[in-house]
Amino acid sequence: NIMLCLSDWQKGKVKLGHLDLEGALIARDRVGIQDFVLLDAHNSETAFLDNLKKRFTEDLIYTYIGTLLISVNPYKELDIYTKKQMDLYMGVNFFELPPHIYALADNVYHTMLSEANNNFILISGESGAGKTEASKKILQYYAVSCPSSTLMDTVRDRMLMSNPVLEAFGNAKTMKNDNSSRFGKYMDIQFDCQGDAVGGHILSYLLEKSRVVHQNHGERNFHIFYQLVEGGEEDLLRHLGLEKDTKRYSYLVQGECSNVSSINDKDDWKTVKNALSVIDFDANDIEHLFGIIASVLHLGNVHFDGDTKGYATLNTNAALRWLLEIHVQVLHEALTFRKIEAKSEEVLSPFTVDHAIYARDALAKAIYGRAFTWLVNRINESLENRVRGQQKKISDNFLLILCVLSFEQFCINYCNEKLQQLFIQLTLKAEQEEYEAEGIGWEPVQFFNNKIICDLVEEKHRGIISVLDEECMRPGDATDLTFLDKLEEKMGNHPHFVTHKLADKKTRKSLERGDFRLLHYAGEVTYCVVGFIDKNNDLLYKNIKDVIRLSKNPIIQQCFPATEGDSRRRPETVSPLFFNSGKVEICFFLLCLFSLFITGKFDEVLVRHQVKYLGLMEHLRVRRAGFAYRRRYEVFLKRCTCRWGGRTSSVFSPHKPELLFIFCHIQRTKIFIRYARTLFATEDAFEICKHELATK
Ligand code: ATP
Ligand code: MG
Repeated sequence: NIMLCLSDWQKGKVKLGHLDLEGALIARDRVGIQDFVLLDAHNSETAFLDNLKKRFTEDLIYTYIGTLLISVNPYKELDIYTKKQMDLYMGVNFFELPPHIYALADNVYHTMLSEANNNFILISGESGAGKTEASKKILQYYAVSCPSSTLMDTVRDRMLMSNPVLEAFGNAKTMKNDNSSRFGKYMDIQFDCQGDAVGGHILSYLLEKSRVVHQNHGERNFHIFYQLVEGGEEDLLRHLGLEKDTKRYSYLVQGECSNVSSINDKDDWKTVKNALSVIDFDANDIEHLFGIIASVLHLGNVHFDGDTKGYATLNTNAALRWLLEIHVQVLHEALTFRKIEAKSEEVLSPFTVDHAIYARDALAKAIYGRAFTWLVNRINESLENRVRGQQKKISDNFLLILCVLSFEQFCINYCNEKLQQLFIQLTLKAEQEEYEAEGIGWEPVQFFNNKIICDLVEEKHRGIISVLDEECMRPGDATDLTFLDKLEEKMGNHPHFVTHKLADKKTRKSLERGDFRLLHYAGEVTYCVVGFIDKNNDLLYKNIKDVIRLSKNPIIQQCFPATEGDSRRRPETVSPLFFNSGKVEICFFLLCLFSLFITGKFDEVLVRHQVKYLGLMEHLRVRRAGFAYRRRYEVFLKRCTCRWGGRTSSVFSPHKPELLFIFCHIQRTKIFIRYARTLFATEDAFEICKHELATK
């Protein structure tokens, strides 16, 4: 072991002041501690919350647990995202300045350049916690701080402008968040060896398509519909057959809240139009894209009556006229009849009113969903790495930013469950395994591993998704209830699964017959089984598909290629993206917490719940007992020697004289440093360390 300038850390009492941005020492009592690792009462959840609250009250929304960053949504504009602030954090030691998202962004960037090519930032938290805002702030930081040339400027502008576009088409007002992302986003930024951003790629998953046709009370459809109707130029609206009144459209009025005080659809329309032009959309693209958006609105206004036998009839073709550039009569037939292939004949079987509504909504969801995918692909084309063509050497540096976002309850909770699993694997589990492997004396910290719940959902042949798929494939009479029966049969004894039938007397009271309940890591969630089969099937009748393909709209033609099979798709999940990629070398975490949406106050109960289920106390315990920083010797030495003296971008900065302490183990393959704030403040200390390492 080497110990330099050791504080009284081992006794658990580290007397640290807190440096504000001007470098003045601020009383720790008022602003709390900026890294939970240094909290005296590190085992007390109450002390943990007190510290968060103290900081929140002072508008200090960021706090570290070692290198993990926690934020609490302030719900108000703070003056901490200025250019001046960015400059301050650029290339500075992670622990040298108060916690900030810029410190994280900067640290990731420099780690990528100096050590690991592939880095990964995982942003997680509940709806409304501030994930999207955080990812935007990271992008803005890179846009300002990374070196750039004219070519990179284009990439940078496009990357920034992809945000308003994606938000317009993929975000909506919900009860929890006026700008809730209703799709998952996985973004990857490529840098060349000089650290210039040269390209990017966005992957979207799990768009909540059902929102197109149905919104709960107090919620809205995707922003773009309102933006088009409210902000669209008169010529455009006339061309699309739209009126300037959102109340006219069935798909926009269900939530009864078209106007939201925090949203200005007219202004947003202008932003989106401008952003589309930056990412290279021409007038034609825009016309065709909004032709699709308008078609969805017209489709929602197609209503059916029942004839004497209960079959669906359409009493006016008015709305159909504007649809998808398809002949009215053909569409009319497709929406009221189903084509059944019997032997070598095709028979037309009339829809009931319910069936017709179902078919109409399925069509609306399908065209919106596919147009969204088309849009993302189009954005990706514009972000494509153009440098390659110019023979510039590219290293495969990349940075991934992933947001976890809400979706229909089951899928989003499953995604969150997987991400929690990733978090556990990369932090709690991996960390402890590493100590063991390196031979560091270690008292294991217990934590709840949610693998059991992930397995319950995804295990092959046995998990809920498998059972659902099987039930969907079963010819004949599969219904939501037969699906529930199958679940009961297979999951009967699982400690995290319960239904009305399986529950004990007390629990049964709180469960309806068609419900099942999962005990997620974040708490119990009850799911109503109705609609599972339909939604998993996402069925679009074949003759409707055939009809859509007649559309003259080129975007629709690309979205529904004639070559596409009719195979059923499994629900997409985010997991394969990173679990199997093996590409990611280092993962950084930002955990967003939310407090009160309406008042912006710190709600202790709410925050306590999140602290609990995110396992933050366990995380703190591991971090506290463990070593915040560890590097292989070569990397460590190289970094110390080459950075010594100048303005440094590494964890080690000789700048600030307020040297704290170093306590490290030299283990089998790496050096482990318990807590490094500012190391090597004196040449002496540095020399000693170098010598020790060299002899090792
Ligand atoms: P969802 O899962 O629903 O998409 P989210 O985690 O992406 O939620 P955001 O949309 O990022 O949540 O944040 C919700 C709102 O909270 C923002 O619209 C903004 O008003 C506020 N907010 C979030 N982060 C910040 C911040 N750092 N400073 C000020 N306000 C913020
Ligand atoms: Mg979001």
